[in-house]
Amino acid sequence: MLKLVLLLLLVNLFQSDERQAEREHMVVHQIQDRGVKDELTIEAMRKVDRHKLVPSEVRHLAYQDRPLPIGFGQTISQPYMVAYMTESIRPGENFKVLEIGTGSGYQAAVLAEIVAEVYTVEIVEDLGKRAANDLRDMGYQNIHFKIGDGYYGWQEHAPYDAIIVTAASEQVPPPLLKQLKDGGRMIIPVGSPFMTQQLVIVEKKGKRIRSRNLMPVRFVPFTRSK
Ligand code: SAH
Repeated sequence: MLKLVLLLLLVNLFQSDERQAEREHMVVHQIQDRGVKDELTIEAMRKVDRHKLVPSEVRHLAYQDRPLPIGFGQTISQPYMVAYMTESIRPGENFKVLEIGTGSGYQAAVLAEIVAEVYTVEIVEDLGKRAANDLRDMGYQNIHFKIGDGYYGWQEHAPYDAIIVTAASEQVPPPLLKQLKDGGRMIIPVGSPFMTQQLVIVEKKGKRIRSRNLMPVRFVPFTRSK
């Protein structure tokens, strides 16, 4: 019995070492080589166990350069996209960030490694609950979960230093713009579902709203509750 336990422990150690090596490779070749420079973002991408947040059927693919299915017709974004979006909000250690579209919880975990508090909203109840359980098991205490339509943001904790939306919306939801701090940044894929969308960075300065297209992207659709 004891031998078996020791053997399992060894296998486990070996596997987590192997995943660490895969993750390093991902950070260098998928993220740094493509121009992500923010040290806080890179450090967070090095830390988060992405393989613990994807379904077991695709766990072996966790560090590949692609999005992966997570059930309910949804996907976990490609690692590079997560790093790029994280960097684009210029995250600071004392930030309070709102994420719309919890999904697997991976983007929330990356943010939680950097910022003070993460508030994340998911419309598919089973996904939101699974992510909350997984992230608690992984020890995250600064991520707060809500099930609901993220169109309305999370008013109770507003304003936010930054907002990350991970589902494609036809336009920027006005409640999210309202809940963004003056001087804050929001990143959001804008466009029709099932077509190429634009990743847009929105900056709020007083009454002035400045938007810039960053790159074409493909995200799952922003759905609305009835
Ligand atoms: N950030 C996620 C990506 C998940 S894909 C990750 O790191 O894994 C986008 C997610 O947005 C899906 O889980 C989808 O169910 C959710 N979503 C779509 N419309 C939404 C809405 N109106 N409010 C909240 N979540 C929404």
